[in-house]
Amino acid sequence: APRTVLISGCSSGIGLELAVQLAHDHRQRYQVVATMRDLGKKGTLEEAAGDALGQTLTVAQLDVCSDESVAQCLSCIQGGEVDVLVNNAGVGLVGPLEGLSLAAMQNVFDTNFFGAVRLVRAVLPGMKRRRKGHIVVVSSVMGLQGVLFNEAYAASKFALEGFFESLAIQLLQFNIFITLVEPGPVVTDFEGKLLEQVSTAEFPDTDPDTLRYFWDFYLPASRELFHSVGQSPQDVAQVIVKVIGSTRPPLRRQTNARYTPLVALKAVDPSGSLYVRTTHCLLFRWTRLLNLGLRCLACGCLRFRIRPR
Ligand code: NAD
Repeated sequence: APRTVLISGCSSGIGLELAVQLAHDHRQRYQVVATMRDLGKKGTLEEAAGDALGQTLTVAQLDVCSDESVAQCLSCIQGGEVDVLVNNAGVGLVGPLEGLSLAAMQNVFDTNFFGAVRLVRAVLPGMKRRRKGHIVVVSSVMGLQGVLFNEAYAASKFALEGFFESLAIQLLQFNIFITLVEPGPVVTDFEGKLLEQVSTAEFPDTDPDTLRYFWDFYLPASRELFHSVGQSPQDVAQVIVKVIGSTRPPLRRQTNARYTPLVALKAVDPSGSLYVRTTHCLLFRWTRLLNLGLRCLACGCLRFRIRPR
């Protein structure tokens, strides 16, 4: 029988791609329940699913921040049984710490961390009873390494890493596997939503130096990174499809080989200084050159295009 795969956050990006790829599996190994918070946005997914819609793919409502929504969604799945859960729904948050509200940071944890915890608690009893299952968590390289101006987002992904690594040990007793997938930058709506957030943000209570580091150093470098090493959601989904299809899924799977050296710095120097100093250098030395160059070439550097001032 096909395995039932429940995926959160399928209205766009990685979740949408993954749902479509699994539904088109040529061996028809999966029955995909592609979920999203707002069913009004299901058009793109349905179009991409094509023939699979209503066959190997169904669309359902699911807000990972709501107990009722999770219960309602699971009650609609035949037998309530989920063989593979993919915790994909997530939100980002960037900006100087002093200028962000605690409520905004709590929202990041509610979605990225507690959203995944809520879903796992709901499907775990069934998986334990059946003595099989696979829980996939879309983490990030920011679940392994801190990145400036992303403190709350990285913390939510670090939280996922600690939580699921801990759980993985117990779950081996039940033949249930956990995989933390760790993409680098992926070209989806994610970055656009963040840029939109910051374009209207005021960042009150933030000193001018910090604001300058954010606007003139971090943001241009981040954009450049998305353009130079960003993966497509199709590529990331392909990696997840492979992980789901394997008989002994790994605990961790990075998707972008170009990030491995940065992550390895932490292993090379357990004191952590090497990672922090290298990243600091890369950002503040390299970006200064980039900014100078852009200012000389055209009087409209990246900063002004992101937020006119
Ligand atoms: P995306 O914005 O296209 O997808 C995120 C999805 O989560 C959206 O469909 C959104 O509606 C959904 N979502 C948000 N809050 C929700 C809620 N309360 N309930 C249900 N769904 C909710 O971006 P993406 O890049 O496809 O992101 C997918 C995952 O990949 C996220 O967990 C993100 O943190 C992670 N990730 C993204 C990148 C990147 O650069 N894009 C890099 C590493 C990891």
